[in-house]
Amino acid sequence: MVDKASEALLYAAERGCLQGVKAALKAGADIDYAQPDNEVTGKGTALFIASYFRHTDIMTLLIRKGASMTKRTTMFASAPLHGAVTYEGKTDALELLFRHGATLDIRDCYQRTPLMLACMFGYVDTVRKLIQLGARVDLKDTGPTTAQMYCEKAEEGGNCSRAQKETMVKLIQEARLRCCNPTCGKPGDRSTLKLCGQCKLTRYCSRDCQKQHWTVGHKKSCGHDGYSEPSPLKKLWTSGRIFDFMTYVVPETS
Ligand SMILES: [Zn+2]
Ligand SMILES: [Zn+2]
Repeated sequence: MVDKASEALLYAAERGCLQGVKAALKAGADIDYAQPDNEVTGKGTALFIASYFRHTDIMTLLIRKGASMTKRTTMFASAPLHGAVTYEGKTDALELLFRHGATLDIRDCYQRTPLMLACMFGYVDTVRKLIQLGARVDLKDTGPTTAQMYCEKAEEGGNCSRAQKETMVKLIQEARLRCCNPTCGKPGDRSTLKLCGQCKLTRYCSRDCQKQHWTVGHKKSCGHDGYSEPSPLKKLWTSGRIFDFMTYVVPETS
């Protein structure tokens, strides 16, 4: 049976109708529902769709109501943050997700990060923002292709000019690792920043920053940002006991 309220939620999220989103949630919509056959939005949740269309008022409401930051589309296993990088120079949606604990280097089914997508599209300002926030530039997808290689491809494919590509490559080459606590963002390197012992994807300058990021949302994302089969630890991650074994691992090895 079609879940009318949940379908209405997606419809309202796509059209940017905040009242419609509120009404659908009130009518019992599943906040993380994804349509099985919507090609436009890649079969994503309301948060993915709102991120994709940059309806930040709706995103704020959905996040406040507990929408998942890590539930993927069925098409490319894209997370909301992957959806939010599809506009050049408009970084409000991605910054909003980041402030609420989204992991910058979340992977899709090809192990692509949001930064790789922004490079692929040739979106210089979006690349700049992701790097400012601390996105990692050294990761590879299943290609294996790096963010810098995606910049080369963007120029070859006509997605950006040579000058734009050169700007993106320069940003990548000068990038520094940063503390993943959105209110900190202190630059550092592999010897000074320490990884979350659980997901080994987020890094912090201090224990306090790790705790703050945990509170603003990492507790919901930790362990769900990589794209692979669930590990046996998954039960523990969701049991709320996770802080017991969140330990630092130094130096980063990858
Ligand atoms: Zn910090
Ligand atoms: Zn983690």
